[in-house]
Amino acid sequence: MTSSHGPVPGVYARLGVKPIINAGSWLTALGGSLMSPEVLRAMQEASTAFVDLHALQLAAGEVLARASGAEAGFVTGGAAASNVLMAAACMAGDDPSKIDRLPDSRGMKNELVLFDGHRNHYDSNYEIAGATIVPWGFAGNGKPYQLEEAINEQTCAMAWIEAPFMKHPMPFAEAAQIAHGREVPVIVDAAAEVPPADNLTRFISDGADMVGYSGGKGIGGPQGSGMLVGRNDLVAAAYENHLNSCGTRAGVGRSAKASKEDIVGFVTALQMFTDTDHEAVWAGWRAGAEHIVDRLRGIDGLRVVLEDGDPNRQGPQAVIYFEHGWDGPDPGEVRAALRAADPAIHVGAGGYGDEINIVMVNVQPGEERIIADRLREVLSGPN
Ligand SMILES: *Cc1c(COP(=O)(O)O)cnc(C)c1O
Repeated sequence: MTSSHGPVPGVYARLGVKPIINAGSWLTALGGSLMSPEVLRAMQEASTAFVDLHALQLAAGEVLARASGAEAGFVTGGAAASNVLMAAACMAGDDPSKIDRLPDSRGMKNELVLFDGHRNHYDSNYEIAGATIVPWGFAGNGKPYQLEEAINEQTCAMAWIEAPFMKHPMPFAEAAQIAHGREVPVIVDAAAEVPPADNLTRFISDGADMVGYSGGKGIGGPQGSGMLVGRNDLVAAAYENHLNSCGTRAGVGRSAKASKEDIVGFVTALQMFTDTDHEAVWAGWRAGAEHIVDRLRGIDGLRVVLEDGDPNRQGPQAVIYFEHGWDGPDPGEVRAALRAADPAIHVGAGGYGDEINIVMVNVQPGEERIIADRLREVLSGPN
């Protein structure tokens, strides 16, 4: 089996699954990200010997803490897993009898306050641990007094979500300060926010008590990995919930397991990420987006631009805006035509409206030409 952009890797060919072009970002459903040969070699090496997983997590934790500026950390089975563990830690602490009882959180502080505009499809991660979400704010806006009012004796944590196109009610540091004023720990889901590399340290330095990240998005680690970093006591509690080493049964955190290969792979990816020349990588993404913008010039009714520097967008993107005079296929039809191509091309889900955005972070060298040619064909007929 071949595809028009090269031979199909044997493992996929044998299963009859065709590779796609991922111009939609670090989306889990499109494969997250690709691991570098160095990360893969590290994982393979890790698979050749047994180690005490606890000792490995302790050593990995030092690397994670250094990279994030946090006191402690460990490798989890993904950012969703980190969310489960952070919520569990804020409810049960490191008390084995409470850890055993979760997700039944009766008798524990179990209300997690979350800004209304931060509601998203990963909320369930907190509920899996046994927390009840208490939304604050209204219709996408939130005032300090509304956060104050949402907090009470039963509050276990304030959660904050950092994600593309997420609207914030106030600066993170300000919300964290309000929560801390009421002795409520602050947990952050920053799954897909790295790069920029600054986001590895920003939330901790602005007051987060724990932060979770995906390993298999911009950091380039195993797709089934993530990290959890933060305050010594809370990270220790999250770790107890994860392993449930002192309890009598596997708790809610067991599903957050990371293998020795995941741990080593993630640590290797994180170290490589922090050593990366991010400007050079960014310039490569920009060049790819520019090629697409150039190729789509002069089509009436479309405005095709390079968007670079918008913090809501993951890297430089080629964005197609459909103007009033446009009488060709609508954005949904364009997406469908791209998905029907061979290889199938998946683009971004938009952001500010019914646009098409081509995200370069996972576009492999040369694929920008396939994307540009196919888009030209779909948008202006073959030429
Ligand atoms: C991707 C994502 C997650 C889940 O991350 P995994 O590492 O796939 O578990 C959670 N929260 C947000 C905001 C995300 O973007």
